[in-house]
Parts: sequence; structure tokens; C-alpha cells
Amino acid sequence: MQHLWTRREFLTKLGMAAGAIGMLNHFRSPSVFAREERMELFEVKQVADGIYAAIAVPQHKVNCNAAVIMNEDGVVVVDTHSKPSAARALVKSIAEITRKPVRQVINTHFHWDHWQGNEAYSALFPDIEIIASQATRENMTNPNAGNGGLGSIERQLKTLPEEIAQLQADLAKASNAEVRSRLESALQQTMAYLGELKGLKPALPTLTFERSLTLYKQGREIRLLFLGRAHTSGDLFVYLPKEKILVTGDCIIDWMPFLDDGYPEEWVKTLDEVEKLDFTTMIMGHGQVAGRDRLVFLRSFLADLIVAVKKAAADGATLDEIKRHVPDQLAPQYEQGMSKYPRGQYRERIGGNIEAVYTKVIRKG
Ligand SMILES: [Zn+2]
Repeated sequence: MQHLWTRREFLTKLGMAAGAIGMLNHFRSPSVFAREERMELFEVKQVADGIYAAIAVPQHKVNCNAAVIMNEDGVVVVDTHSKPSAARALVKSIAEITRKPVRQVINTHFHWDHWQGNEAYSALFPDIEIIASQATRENMTNPNAGNGGLGSIERQLKTLPEEIAQLQADLAKASNAEVRSRLESALQQTMAYLGELKGLKPALPTLTFERSLTLYKQGREIRLLFLGRAHTSGDLFVYLPKEKILVTGDCIIDWMPFLDDGYPEEWVKTLDEVEKLDFTTMIMGHGQVAGRDRLVFLRSFLADLIVAVKKAAADGATLDEIKRHVPDQLAPQYEQGMSKYPRGQYRERIGGNIEAVYTKVIRKG
């Protein structure tokens, strides 16, 4: 059924949502506050006709990017960030572009920063379909799946108070104004995040698929593809063949990749499959919109990392020795391209990446 929202319907729904967002600064009108708050979270960029990338602004509690695809019958949104308030902020930006409702939400994978905002869409759009791969839905409900899902929400609720206490202790010790301001902001964000997480009513996918699912929209084809295990066991790509756009989730990001829930060798093979697709533009899980070169760079990094760790282990090096030598060995080729943003930099993640490859490839853990 086609349902175009009236402005009144939208404002009523969003008004209800705004109430849940919390205090509004009384010196500014709510609309000004809302706009500033949104600009702190996303920069919405047009990528093609009716297709937008919501690029997340770096935050202490990370949000993923979203892709927004406008269609005749409504909007498709890929990924929903770490919290409902971030998803609601994006809905407000979408409402400035179109009055059509969001009809489908797609979760690229189960990590916390890509789906914890789902419930905002379910609350605002009761007919919404939330789509993921079957493996991703299973990961969301498996308490031991890793860095996302229902189990991870419970774990975060346990660890966040300790994180807050640590930030408070660090703040009490800090004298440098810049450090204090960074810690104050991190503390404020973490407390607000804990507050939201306590009230979370996680909305799981309502529609899943094994290998592929295509949404045929008027004038647009949206292909959801599972091309093999990679960053997780259920990553999906959203491919628009006519527009030559690929939405990658965290299989391809402009940061260092995160391997903890990943399959390093299969990831490289999956990226070989991605390379066969005809596209020119990528909206990635984190970082700016890019061309195919980032796929080539990331694939090359993963392949070289695996070779370097394997060779060092074969030469008899221990994990500690590998972690001391391989970062410098790969740095000339990769450090700069993997350290473009404040988060997810080369030196921050290379140790964890080496350990993941060592455990998963050498020790087959
Ligand atoms: Zn992510």
C-alpha cells in the first residue's frame, strides 16, 4: 500500500520522538537545536540522483554511516547507528528531503554501531521491513556472537558504569584544558549513551535471506548480496547496478579494518568477489564516500598482513615478536592510508589485527 505522509503526520511522529531525545536548550528554538544536534552526528551528502550518504561525524561512541535511497514508494535506509536518537536525527534529515516514509531498513551486519538504532524506525514507521542476512539475524540473537547483538547490549550495560567511572577519574586528574574538554565530552556522551541503552527495545530483522535478495523499485534495482564471510559471518553488500553504487558496511571502510569477529582469509576472497561487480562509488561503513581504489587498498592490506604474520610465525617468531616487528614492516605502504581520521588508525588497531590473524589463521582458533 502506498502511503505518503502528510507534513502533520510527520511532525506528530517526530514530536513524539523529540520528547524522548531529552532536554532542549531553552535559549534556542527546538528546530535550531535539532539542526545543530544533527550536524554533530551526520553530514548528509548527495551521491547520485535520490541517493545520499549520511557520513557520521566522529564521536566518542561511534556511529556508522548510513546510505539513504529514495524511491517512488518510499525510502530505503542502510544501517541505523549505535542508538535510536542517532537514527531519529537521520530521519529528520530525510524528512527535509522527502515526505515519503522509510519503508525498508537494511542492517549490513550485527555490530552494535550498525543496528542499535533500528527501534527508532519501527516506532516511527509501523509497516517497516528490517532486512539482514540470515547469519546476521542469528548473530544478533546469539549471546556469544561478539561485538553486537542482544548479548553485547547486556555486556555494555555491565561495563559502561566502569567506563564512566574511569572517565571521571581521568577527568579529575587532567589539568590540560584540551584534554579536559575532550574527556568532558566523552563523559557526557557515554552517560547519555548508557541512558539510551537502558531503555533500548531492540528491533530485530523481520526479513532475512541466505545469498541474495533484490528489491525492484520503480526505475531502481537494489540488490542485497551475501558474497562470503568477511568482517563477520553475515556481511551483506547493497549494490545498485544502474547507478554503479555499492554500500559496503564494514567489509570495506576508510579506517583500519576490525578483525575480531572476522575471517581474514575468507575476507580477501570475498573482496575478490566484490571486485567483479561493476561499480564506481562506495558508501562505506566508516569514512568518506570513495571510489574502487579503497577496495583495492584494503584487500591488499589484508592479504599482505596475512602473508607477513604467516611468514614471521613460520620463521619461529612468537606473537609478541610479530606484534613488535610487523607494524613497522607494513607501515610504509599502509600507515598513512589507514590513519586518515581520529578513530580507527593504523597504530591503534594493527596489534589487534595481528593477534586476530595469528589466532584465526595460524592457530585456527
Ligand atoms: Zn562499524
